[in-house]
Formats: sequence, C-alpha cells, structure tokens
Amino acid sequence: MWQAKPRLDATTLKFGAVYTDHMLQVSWKDGLGWTAPSIDPLGPISLHPCAQVLHYAVECFEGMKVYKGKDGQLRLFRPEMNMDRLARSAARLTLPKFDKVELLECIKELVRVERDWVPDAEGFSVYIRPTMIGTHPFLGVGPTREAMLYVILSPVGPYFPSGLKPIKLYVETENVRAFSGGVGNYKIGGNYAPTILPQLRGSHLGCSQVLFVMQDGKSKGGLVGESGSMNIFFLIRQEGESGELELVTPPLDGLILPGVTRDTVLKLARGFGDMKVSERPLHFDEVERASESGRLLEVFGTGTACMIQPVVGLVMKDSEITVPFDGDAAKHWLAKAPGTAALPNSSSDEPLSLCGRLSRALLDVQYGHVDSEWSVVI
Ligand code: PMP
Repeated sequence: MWQAKPRLDATTLKFGAVYTDHMLQVSWKDGLGWTAPSIDPLGPISLHPCAQVLHYAVECFEGMKVYKGKDGQLRLFRPEMNMDRLARSAARLTLPKFDKVELLECIKELVRVERDWVPDAEGFSVYIRPTMIGTHPFLGVGPTREAMLYVILSPVGPYFPSGLKPIKLYVETENVRAFSGGVGNYKIGGNYAPTILPQLRGSHLGCSQVLFVMQDGKSKGGLVGESGSMNIFFLIRQEGESGELELVTPPLDGLILPGVTRDTVLKLARGFGDMKVSERPLHFDEVERASESGRLLEVFGTGTACMIQPVVGLVMKDSEITVPFDGDAAKHWLAKAPGTAALPNSSSDEPLSLCGRLSRALLDVQYGHVDSEWSVVI
C-alpha cells in the first residue's frame, strides 16, 4: 500500500526525490469538458494500458517553484509564463485548452495545503510540476479525446548532486535535441527521453549535463543550442581596443525552450546597463576562439531548477575548454565598465561576477527581499 514519505531535513534534499502529501487532479473528456478539480492524497494514478501517453508520449509539463521568504510569505515567480508555456505545449499535442487563471488558482490552493513543506532556507524551495497527459485508450495515432491534468509538489535543494559547485558540460555534436520545424521549443516529455543517453555519455567524462551543439554546415563547430534542462549564456569580451563585454545567448528560433529564467536574466542584464546583451546565433568556433585568447569570461546555465549555474568546463571528445572558475576575469572587466559602481543588490564593495550579480538579483525577488512585479504572493 502506498504511503506518504516522512518529512526530511531540507538541507539534505536531493532534487526530485521527495514529494509532498497531496496532488491536484482534474480530468477532461471530449464533449464533456473538465471535471471539478480536486486535491487528493498523492498516490498512483490508474491508466488503461492503451492510454495515448504510454505509446505516443502525449505529455507536456511545466517546472516552477514556490519560495518561502524570511517574512514567512510564499511567493511564485512569474507563474503566468509557465501557464502560457503549458498552454502552448498542450495545443501542440492536441491536449485540451484550459483556463490559465483558474489553473494558477488551483496551484496556489495546493501550495496553501502543503505550505509546511516549503523550506525557508535560501536556495531551497518546493518545485511544482504541472503535468498533462493523453489518457484516451486508443492505439491509433490521433487527436486526444481524454486527458488528465495533475500537479505534484517536491521540496528541493540544489539541482545538481554536486550541490552549488560549478559544473562541466559535455559538448554533444552527434545527437541533436531539436531541429528546424520540430518541437524543441515546447516542454513535452518526448523531447527529454532521447537526451538521457547522451547525458550518460557525458557523465562518464565528469560532466553534469550536455550542451547541444548542432552541425549547421556553416561552421566547423556548429550552432550552440541549450543544455539538457537549462538555457545557456556566455560572457565574452569582444576583440579589439574597446574590449566590449557581450552577454550572448542563442535566440528563440524554435530550437530551444523559451526559459522563464532566460527571459529574466536577459531583462536583469539589460537593466545592469554595463554590457551588450545579445540573443543571436552563436557558433561554437566563436566560443573556442574567445577561450583561446582569454576572452571567454563566464559561462552559465539558467533554469527554474538550477537557477544560475556556473559552468567551468566544456568537454569535447578529445579536448576541453576551461572557463574561469569564479568569474575573476569577468569581475576585472565588469569593474572597468561604466555603471558598475552602482551594482544592484551588491552588499559589498567587491565587484561580483556576472553570475553572482544575477543570482543575487534573482534570489532577492524570489525570497522577497525586494518588491517586484515578478513575485506572486500566495
Ligand atoms: N531548456 C530546457 C530544455 C529545459 O528543460 C528547461 C527547464 N524548464 C530550461 C531550458 C529552462 O527553462 P526555465 O527557465 O523556464 O526553467
């Protein structure tokens, strides 16, 4: 018989291994619409062996978090972006439309029920996983006629088993995650299963995740995409006298997931005003050249789960790009950039790395140290 797991010490939490006691669930049938949502004890769900989700991966999901501040308040971070993305993913799979405002209200209610599970240490939170599946028992490939939407909660700490330490990424050039006209920009389960094998290959080389670099026939190195569960950013000092600093991330061209954290980092970095911020195609050759001439200052991944994750190595089959460890090089150049004297949210005189500044600014909003329209208090 299934039983709720005992509550654990938040500081020992492994990502995604512990769940709270309750789940939200609601079902849908073509012609009948949605049933009334209910919050029930967490437990197994029953599916017909022919359910579409089990055969054709008719599944989409979201990842968001609720944070508890020092003031004891619970806050969601830009949750409407997750509702919008879930609606887009669902539409792509012919899963039903839902009322985004109402789903968010249901999620808030679930969080209220489970509020005691939310750790109050910075860097810890409860991860929220809304999931939609096609449950129609039908072996033909066809549009969804029955579906289920459920939400489970998982108290979490740092995403990577290494804790908050910087990680290495395995540069994957053989297996592509997405392709033009495909579904790389949707958060659907079918995008993730094929990434596990490349990730395993990378883990044998000491890498925590994969960086997908796609051969485009235009450059030797290929086009930088994203990581297994993160968008990717590079802080590069441009060649020449001016040595302009540029924060580069690949554009939303349909090949990568439009991350909530990505969008937030772009807005924060543009607000800092001391570097050029670009969403543009980035060829891996450019990263290699920047590294060779000491101009690759920082690399980091962004995502709800990992927040801002510094990257110290880009590992290829027979070589490795080493990225400065704590952004020291970036600190040097950022300190020279106009406007750096008034670093937002920096409590010390010591210039922070860009990673450090962004993490601080993000945590300040998420844990309610500053008021922000991005915070939704529950
Ligand atoms: N890319 C992929 C492939 C992801 O799974 C995620 C996690 N949702 C991200 C990027 C980051 O997105 P977000 O900032 O919305 O969590």
